[in-house]
Amino acid sequence: MRPDEIDSALSALAGEHRLRRRATLQSPQGPRVTIDGRDYLAFASNDYLGLANHPALRQAMQQAIGDWGVGGGSSALVAGHFGIQQQAEEALAEFVGCEAALLFGSGYAANLGVITSLVGRGDAVFADRLNHASLNDGCLLSRATFKRFRHNDLAQLEQLLRDTPARTRLIAVDAVYSMDGDEAPLRELLQLAERYDAWLYLDDAHGFGLLGDGHGALLEYALHHPRVVYMATLGKAAGVAGAFVAGSRQLIDWLVNSARTYIFTTAHPPAQAAAILRSLQLIDADKWRRHLINEHISALHAGLRATSLSLCSSRSPIQPIIIGSNKQVLKLAEQLRARGIWVPAIRPPTVPAGSARLRVSLSAGHTRDDVAELLAALLSVIS
Ligand SMILES: *Cc1c(COP(=O)(O)O)cnc(C)c1O
Repeated sequence: MRPDEIDSALSALAGEHRLRRRATLQSPQGPRVTIDGRDYLAFASNDYLGLANHPALRQAMQQAIGDWGVGGGSSALVAGHFGIQQQAEEALAEFVGCEAALLFGSGYAANLGVITSLVGRGDAVFADRLNHASLNDGCLLSRATFKRFRHNDLAQLEQLLRDTPARTRLIAVDAVYSMDGDEAPLRELLQLAERYDAWLYLDDAHGFGLLGDGHGALLEYALHHPRVVYMATLGKAAGVAGAFVAGSRQLIDWLVNSARTYIFTTAHPPAQAAAILRSLQLIDADKWRRHLINEHISALHAGLRATSLSLCSSRSPIQPIIIGSNKQVLKLAEQLRARGIWVPAIRPPTVPAGSARLRVSLSAGHTRDDVAELLAALLSVIS
């Protein structure tokens, strides 16, 4: 992109209904938000358990700022690994049933750092076509041979594994797909990883806090195994920020010594770790949050059953309504906004061309009435 080309590139995006603009929130994250001066009932965030603005998390973080200050001040390996972070890593490891865990600044950073630590030139990575962009970027950055298989197509994956000459192999998948809400066949993937001597890298950004009674996909599918590397983000259901990787003690020691997105970055604010610790307690204790989401999912499916809008098969809080055209999805999102409801229109390149969608994201922060209000608005915009 040359300086004189940006203008026409932006115009081209606008012409394809793909120009992104950020809505500005003037309130905390939650089911009801103020955006650009207007109040909305929102089905847009990944705050699935409704914890992002929970009083207990606010209090934990405020108190921890008193104890630990604000800035990390240094990279973790120099002088930026704090006691509260060590405590959070130990709690996270135990929470998902692994020997050890390592906190990263974000899920994006974790995916880049871990994949490039495990595979390099001459190795091979195998990735589901619907994987999150950060996994793809990690695979590309690793310089390993990068093979993508059709979504959840185990036969194609097996063919690719059978054909590879690479000595070190890594299969990378989302546990729950971020734009579809469906799940990877994890037990079958682990069998393939064993048969073909590969790592299984599991990105549980959308399963942590929900699957496995909140403890994530490893617990849900009993996947503890030396070949499995587990990553979950802490800015979605956990309501805070950051991410962690869990596995064997050796694996974590290796990442501390090799993951460039861990080594060459300033430690995140230590107070964040205190909020993460508090969040783990709530994820564990507040089982009603997961029950309420399940009720919301049932209500949404029941309410749309006899309409022209169809949902995907998803038991996660991610409930996309596939519309197809970019223009049509923008129009529907706009009509919902006019009724005070915020549902994001997701377009390419986030999703494949021709599969633009309303990504309804349900949360334990929503009440039954909120979901009824969404249904009424959806029915009125399609009638
Ligand atoms: C959100 C997300 C990430 C990135 O996590 P951040 O902490 O937001 O950087 C990685 N993988 C998946 C599947 C995600 O949905």
